[in-house]
Amino acid sequence: MLDVLIIGAGPVGLACALETQRRGLRTAVVEKGALVNSIIGYPTNMEFFSTPELLEIGGYPFPTSHYKPLREDALDYYHRVAATEKLELRLHEKVLALQGEQGDFTVQTDKGEIRTRNVVVATGFYDLPNLLNVPGEDLPHVSHYYKEPYEHVTQHVVVVGAKNSSAKAALQLTRAGAKVTLIVRGPAVSDSVKYWIRPDLVNRIAEGRITAHFNTTITAIRPDAVEVLTPEGPLTLPTNFVYALTGYHPDEALLGRLGIEPNPDDEACAPLFDPATHQTTRPGLFVAGTVCGGRATSRWFIENGRHHAQLIAAHLAAQVPTQLA
Ligand SMILES: Cc1cc2nc3c(=O)[nH]c(=O)nc-3n(C[C@H](O)[C@H](O)[C@H](O)COP(=O)(O)OP(=O)(O)OC[C@H]3O[C@@H](n4cnc5c(N)ncnc54)[C@H](O)[C@@H]3O)c2cc1C
Repeated sequence: MLDVLIIGAGPVGLACALETQRRGLRTAVVEKGALVNSIIGYPTNMEFFSTPELLEIGGYPFPTSHYKPLREDALDYYHRVAATEKLELRLHEKVLALQGEQGDFTVQTDKGEIRTRNVVVATGFYDLPNLLNVPGEDLPHVSHYYKEPYEHVTQHVVVVGAKNSSAKAALQLTRAGAKVTLIVRGPAVSDSVKYWIRPDLVNRIAEGRITAHFNTTITAIRPDAVEVLTPEGPLTLPTNFVYALTGYHPDEALLGRLGIEPNPDDEACAPLFDPATHQTTRPGLFVAGTVCGGRATSRWFIENGRHHAQLIAAHLAAQVPTQLA
């Protein structure tokens, strides 16, 4: 029987695992995809907005040759940390449900069962995109994940959204030679776009290299066009590819199956947990990382979420001996 099972091998899940293991607790991590699966899904060569020391876990230095790490640097870093700490990893195994109680939980996965005294849920938010909910969204030329621009050179690409991901994708696609149209529901490029990205986008729109439609919504996607509603009326935009980069949200159905209650006073439906220990209302069940913010996915990120690990590990190190007694 494990002392702690961490669900999710993202940066915060790994931070939790190494902190509990270092305190002598028998720990494993179960992950439905690959190690640091969410970061694998980020754009090729994506530059983090954090400097490397703010992404470090377990006290391991994160040296990089440039000011901000790239996706590939982060993948190497977290892989090395997991290997150095000899973390027990159960990869490509998806958690489905949780039975039992603190001291004797059974976690059901798509490969079997895992028995553990305590569970930490660090499942992030990156698997479920916020859908536009328009006809045609499921067509093969529509994606909610941007990777790289090269297949779109000379093509008409519609990018939906005006936050960091859509801003960076629109700029990169334009520079690679795609004809980009940005569709923005609000009146302007979001103020939350990082201060070194926003002026670049605003200036590319001003000089006409990127066409932007503000206060505009998509009403339908067809194989060769996108229908939009602008303040001046409906428009049909010829389109070869659509990137709907309108954010993501945690798997609330999974959280419910694990027995995690939403906080009724939180408009983002964040889980109800004790901020001192990160224990939920189900004793022995903890939350860590981005999932703690519910639909407010920018509330907790690697920089601040990695510190959940120490709170949880310190609490469990005191608890587990009493569970064994
Ligand atoms: C493009 C982009 C750039 C970013 N840049 C930065 C930055 O510069 N600095 C920063 O601090 N933050 C940044 N963030 C945010 C940051 O990456 C996330 O907040 C971070 O990944 C959160 O870590 P986590 O461990 O909580 O969750 P995740 O990294 O999302 O890990 C959760 C893991 O749980 C797994 N999982 C989910 N469900 C199950 C299940 N049922 N069973 C088993 N496993 C499951 C997932 O596969 C995933 O591997 C960025 C995010 C994006 C999208």
